[in-house]
Order: sequence, then C-alpha cells, then structure tokens
Amino acid sequence: MDLSNLTIKKARELLDSKKVSVRELVDFYLDKIKETEDLNIFLEIYPDLDEQIEKAQQKIDSGEASDLTGIPIAIKDNILIKGKKSSAGSKILEGYVATYDATVISKLGEHCPIFLGRVNMDEFAMGGSTENSAYGVTKNPVDPERVAGGSSGGSSAAVAADLAVFALGSDTGGSIRQPASFCGITGLKPTYGSVSRYGLMAMGSSLDVIGPLTKNTEDAEIVFNIIKGKDPKDSTTIEDDKSDSANDDVKKIGVPRSFLKEGIDEIVLENFEKSLAKLKEKGYEIVDIEMPDLEHSLAVYYVIMPAEVSSNMARYDGVKYGNKIEGEDLIGDYFKTRGQLLGAEVRRRIILGTYVLSAGYSGQYYNRAWQVRNLIKKEFDKAYEEVDVIALPTSPTPAFKIGEKEDPVSMYLADIFTVSANLAGVPAISIPEKAVSSGGNAKLPTGLQLIAPQLKEARLFQVGKKIEN
Ligand code: GLN
Repeated sequence: MDLSNLTIKKARELLDSKKVSVRELVDFYLDKIKETEDLNIFLEIYPDLDEQIEKAQQKIDSGEASDLTGIPIAIKDNILIKGKKSSAGSKILEGYVATYDATVISKLGEHCPIFLGRVNMDEFAMGGSTENSAYGVTKNPVDPERVAGGSSGGSSAAVAADLAVFALGSDTGGSIRQPASFCGITGLKPTYGSVSRYGLMAMGSSLDVIGPLTKNTEDAEIVFNIIKGKDPKDSTTIEDDKSDSANDDVKKIGVPRSFLKEGIDEIVLENFEKSLAKLKEKGYEIVDIEMPDLEHSLAVYYVIMPAEVSSNMARYDGVKYGNKIEGEDLIGDYFKTRGQLLGAEVRRRIILGTYVLSAGYSGQYYNRAWQVRNLIKKEFDKAYEEVDVIALPTSPTPAFKIGEKEDPVSMYLADIFTVSANLAGVPAISIPEKAVSSGGNAKLPTGLQLIAPQLKEARLFQVGKKIEN
C-alpha cells in the first residue's frame, strides 16, 4: 500500500480500518528517515517506540482511538518530553534529559500518538536557517543545496520529506512560517497565549508560541484544537474565543501594499499576486490597506527579542543545570561555559540584549521599542476594522543556499514579513505556493501568509482550506 504523503485524516482512516497497523506505519517512516539521513533532520529517534506502538495499537483495537492515536509526529528539540533528551540545538544542553512533559506533549499524549523523535533547529531557536544548530545544518528536501529555513528547519523538513505526518515547532519571529514556506508545507503560528509555553525552552517570552507544521490547513486546525487552551502552568495563556464571531465568514482581505517594497524576489511577488488572484476567484474582496508602522517591526523585534533572550539565557551558567566547563574560579566557569558551549549567534544576542537593557540605555532602546510595539498592535486593530484577514508573503525570498547569508544582518532582514504578527500577538499561517513561473527559482516553493485578529485562527483555516482545494 502507498503510505506516502498521509494527512492526519487519511492516516486515521487507514489505522481505524486496519488497512495498516501502527507498526507498519512507523516502519514506513523509519525507513524513510534512514534513506534521508544526509539531510540531517532528526537528531534522535526516541528509544521507546515499541512501547508507544503497542499502547497506540491497543487503543485502536479496543475502539478507543481518537484523532491522533498511532499518528507519527516529529518534535522540535526545544519542547520537553519527560525522560527524553532535549538540547535546543545547543552543546550546552547536550545530553540533557527533561524532567517533565511540556503541556503540548501532555495534550497530544492523551491521544497516544507516536512521538518518533526530536528534530533539528537553530540553537535556542535563534536563526532562520538551522545553520546555527550545534548539530549541523538541515538540508531542504526540495533542494539539498539550500537551507530548510529556521529555526524549526528540522520540523519543516521532516514534514516536507514525509518523515512524519506532522511536526511541532515554535515561532518567536517567524520560525514556524518561514521554514514552512521554504519547504512547501503549511505552518501555523497561533495567537500568543493560546497555546501553553510550559515546557518550551524560552527564547523571547513575550513572543514565543508553539504551533504545528503540517501537510495542509485541515491538519493544522486539528492539531491546534488539541494543543490550545488556558493552562494554569503558564499564566500568559488566555481563554478561547467563545464569541459568535469565532467562525465568522471572511469577506475582505487586506494587502499592505506599501510594505512590499525593495528587497523582495521577483518570484515571491509573482506568486503572491497569483495567490491574490486565486483568492479573488474564490470570492474574496482584495483591498489595499495602509499600515505605515509595519516598517518598524524588524527594528522593534531586534531590540525586544534580544532583551528577552539575554534574560532567558542567564540560567545557562554551568551552575544550575546544563553542561559546564571548569574555569579557575566562578567567573572563569561562567566565561568558559558560556563562551565555549554557546554558539556565536546566541552570544551575539545575549550581548545585544544586555546592551539594550543596560542602565542609561534601556529608555532609549527597550522602552522605546515597547512603545512602537504598541503602535504596531494598534495598527493591526485598526486594519481589522476594515478587513477580516491580512495577506503578505511569508518571506522575501525562497529558500537560500546553505552558507549564502554570511553576515547576521542579512539573515535578520529575511524576517521582515513574519515578526510583526509576533509583536502584535496575532495568529498567522503560511500556506504553500507552488512556483509555476519560468523564472530562475521556478521550482522552489514560497508561502502565502495570512494574518488574522487575536484568537481568530478559524478565519485562517477557512481561507486556507478554500484555496488549497
Ligand atoms: N529568524 C528569527 C530570529 O532569528 C525568528 C526566530 C524564531 O522565530 N524563533 O529571531
């Protein structure tokens, strides 16, 4: 039987009708994982697959299967599973074994899915290419000379290479959506606070959110509905939208045209226009909107994010936990541990963050950035008085070549279209656009990004499902 490219629904059907057993399904993926080892996607296959398979199959056999029972999933290396290794792509946590389950893992776990293993990522989720992983770059299954994107590059590559039915990732400034667009799959960044961060290794605590990378919008919706919800273990989580408008009909889609200026690849613009035409064909009204403050998103993000990074990274000092390199004294321990076990990008952001928070400068940088962040939030609120959803490209370019972006700033600039949704806390989805152009990068996928108001994920699913058909 052909088991390739299974969605959750299709896999569910095959498992429930006994056309395939959980073990056969898992073996199918394990074989493919072996075949694609040189793409460097999985960091580890979990050692307890046999037990997981047995438990899931029992649940199916006794007629108690639910949405995800027996469905193989890949997990980003910064999400904790009790008793399993989790290293956030860093040497400082090499060999670290989690002592508790992340809330998303407990929620998925109720269904008895198969947690296949953990997948590669930029160190502590800082980056957009997985080139910052301490465990080597992940290659893009569409073109192995190119990056899979990041920081959830392992998650997106796992789904694109069909090594799992879906994967979990995290998104602080684009880390689910951008790799999804680079690999030609779907990626959802939920509303900030709609999914618990308990058990996610923190990067930027006011921006981080866990979400699914899937083969289509329907799967993203299924997973989101399972992992979302208020959690007493994360005080920033919020209640679900229970208003009547939760499922309201999307009619108008806004395009902040003046934001689509320089530095965008031809193919991205071309595919974006094609997507807009398709949306129009499906009956949506496309209107231009003005969002002048979006222009400041990147600058604001690259002040607030490193500030939060520098605070969150303070715990990795070689004393509390994580690995350690001994120095001559305590300061020596800190220098050696943090200097040698953290990568260059992580250290760069700690320094940047420490600087923008330092006495005498924090008003000028950090506080100011928060003021502009509030303006950006207001600009979204205002836009949603006029339109139901906002459309943008996910990334200004398709997947770039490994090693192509050498200076950090050029890498930061690639986050231009994704960071504003994190700053505003609103949900956004990247839907694959298959390139049809005869241009240079014709075969590389790009992504259409749809952004909805807070807690209105339903609108993204509505539009996504409509244009995927
Ligand atoms: N590429 C962005 C950065 O490096 C986003 C990272 C993320 O979302 N984790 O900050």
